[in-house]
Amino acid sequence: MKTRLIIIMFIVIAVSAAFITTLRLESEKPSIKIESMPDSIGASQEIILNISDIKSGIRNIRIDLVQNGKESPLYKKEFSASNLTGSGYVLEESVKVIIEPEQAGLTDGKALLRVAVADYSWHGWWHGNRAYLEKTIIIDTRPPEIEILSRVHNITQGGAGLVIYRLLEPCIKSGVMAGDNFFPGQAGYSKDQTVFISFFALDYKQGKGTKLFVQATDKAGNCAKAGFPYYIKARRFKQDIINISDSFLGWKMPEFEPDIPVADRSSMKDKFLNINNKLRKANFEKIAQVVKKTDKILYWKGAFLRLPKSATRAGFADRRSYKYNGEIIDHQIHLGIDLASVAHSPVPAANKGRVAFTGSIGIYGKTVIIDHGFYLFSMYSHLSSIAVQKDQILLKGEILGRTGTTGLAGGDHLHFSILVNNVFVNPLEWWDKAWIKNNISSKLGLIQK
Ligand SMILES: [Zn+2]
Repeated sequence: MKTRLIIIMFIVIAVSAAFITTLRLESEKPSIKIESMPDSIGASQEIILNISDIKSGIRNIRIDLVQNGKESPLYKKEFSASNLTGSGYVLEESVKVIIEPEQAGLTDGKALLRVAVADYSWHGWWHGNRAYLEKTIIIDTRPPEIEILSRVHNITQGGAGLVIYRLLEPCIKSGVMAGDNFFPGQAGYSKDQTVFISFFALDYKQGKGTKLFVQATDKAGNCAKAGFPYYIKARRFKQDIINISDSFLGWKMPEFEPDIPVADRSSMKDKFLNINNKLRKANFEKIAQVVKKTDKILYWKGAFLRLPKSATRAGFADRRSYKYNGEIIDHQIHLGIDLASVAHSPVPAANKGRVAFTGSIGIYGKTVIIDHGFYLFSMYSHLSSIAVQKDQILLKGEILGRTGTTGLAGGDHLHFSILVNNVFVNPLEWWDKAWIKNNISSKLGLIQK
């Protein structure tokens, strides 16, 4: 009886020992993965490493930065093991470290990130399997240098401008900040890839106090700002009252019915307010989506065309109050110019460009948007028909469609807009030969194509 018990105990111990031995005598190295890390490190960079050892667990992790033979410790941790099997408790660990070159005593230039991990395996004389990862990084704590090349910048509230600058190191992002609005700059106009052009704008609300500067961020995340001389001219916009009649609503509302939430369909007034506010906002988002993509080709030349033989029915940034049954029910800003000619007039492309969009956009009705390159766009709305297709290159004056009353239009007209990036600007400037010469072409003429 006693002998049998001893044998059973012996077997249990032998099996456990064999189990632990096979468990711990594995030779698989821990795995080290860097989740995301830029090639260049600026003043402060967080990196995340995912370390795992699923067989015998993590014993220790050590991360160092090495430069010119000098080691700067970044992270060190010992992990405990289970008493029963001797394996590590932690099989997976996500390590977050922040590299701050100045604190670590590193200078700009190359450095080595070295990660060493050991596991609880009995391999390597009980010291465990070891894994190493080395990655060369570039330390760059200096902000990029920006050299402003264009000299004069006179901008009107609601108007556009152009800044030309040079970046002395490659950057991931650069452009003009106008208040809170960012206008991306791009290389590609000049053969010299260090020369950037950025069309920018002041929106209709941005007056004299608006701060303008060029901003650039390099690969290491260092950000630099460079001011340029500018003069802002304030502008007041017209006040206008739009009378909303029941016959207009009776005509227009059915077209929009599918876009209106059921809760807002109770009265004509509710329907109209829904369209004039919520749908207007959604429509702008749609336009903003279209103008995110632009060609690095300056397609256009000279003044933009105005719809021939047309009368101006509403101006840019008119502050509209909507009156219904003798009561002001809404306020909106009109961010284009309304031009009326004979019904179904042919609409010429205002300048050369690529068709960026054709289709219906809610209150704007049938619409064409043309990309003139470098984030300059023209938009044609309320069309009765569209004669062009997306991505088609249009010459200045080529017919893109006919005027109409689609969308929230009470009579046949063209709603014409110009956008710089996603900001509507005053088209008057772009129709003006002298303005283009003084503010755009003379500046572009100074840089080598
Ligand atoms: Zn309009």
